[in-house]
Amino acid sequence: MIKFGVAGNSLSFYAEGNKHTYEAAKWCAEKGIDVFEYSFGKGVRMTESTARQIGNFFRLYNVDLSVHAPYYINFANPESNKINSSINYVFQSLTKLKEFNWGERVILHPATQGKLMRNEAVELTYKNLSLLAENVVQQGFSDKKICLETMGKLAQIGTVEEIINFCKIAPFYFPCIDFGHINARTMGGLKSSDDYRRIIDFMLDNLPFEKVNRMHIHFSKIMYGSAGEIKHLTFSDNIFGPEFFPLALVIKEYNLEPVIICESDGTQAEDAIFMKELFYGNTK
Ligand SMILES: [Zn+2]
Repeated sequence: MIKFGVAGNSLSFYAEGNKHTYEAAKWCAEKGIDVFEYSFGKGVRMTESTARQIGNFFRLYNVDLSVHAPYYINFANPESNKINSSINYVFQSLTKLKEFNWGERVILHPATQGKLMRNEAVELTYKNLSLLAENVVQQGFSDKKICLETMGKLAQIGTVEEIINFCKIAPFYFPCIDFGHINARTMGGLKSSDDYRRIIDFMLDNLPFEKVNRMHIHFSKIMYGSAGEIKHLTFSDNIFGPEFFPLALVIKEYNLEPVIICESDGTQAEDAIFMKELFYGNTK
């Protein structure tokens, strides 16, 4: 089953008088939104009792939860004490997921290149993601899915090829394919269904089917320049893209069952619903 979801609360959620994320469970359920991705991008600062309360509400309304780990994780940092910090941020995120007691996915940005050569940064990331995987097993979190995201800025580690290679490290590493990011770093490379099909075919050739079938997807339109991603837009943009429809056709053609999270800037709920209706309306 395909699931459509939102990253955080939309402007409309607040405009309709809601304040707290636990209220988003009922709100999402009533709108037909299947998943809520909670962002710990700026740090994991939530008490255990709040996490349990949020988890209870989302379970009650049968809206899945996923967690976005802090943005400052960097597995290509040459200093080993910084790697320990990154590992800790992943564990803090996994712990919140456990306290939610609902949902199984943590999404993370693997690394930035920094002053290293690209191949050095990629090798270091691979090595440290292997170390993280050992820790995940030791700490008993290997029942969760850790989704490694394709990134939008050229200076970030996270091309499709890099992410697919990292996903081979452990059975619980899944791809988070952010098509807006891919479109940004390729300066508008995603236009036709063939453009999307090439990526999915590459994944099918290189990963077990389950990791492609149940991949995590981030979808939003993103402004880009010569260094890649500049900022997230809404679906009202008709300059930068990418468009969801050609991807919907490929997902339907391959019968995939991804989780598709909309990260539009403020209209993520409306845009997630747009994708869901487009998918079931036009490609059934
Ligand atoms: Zn992300």
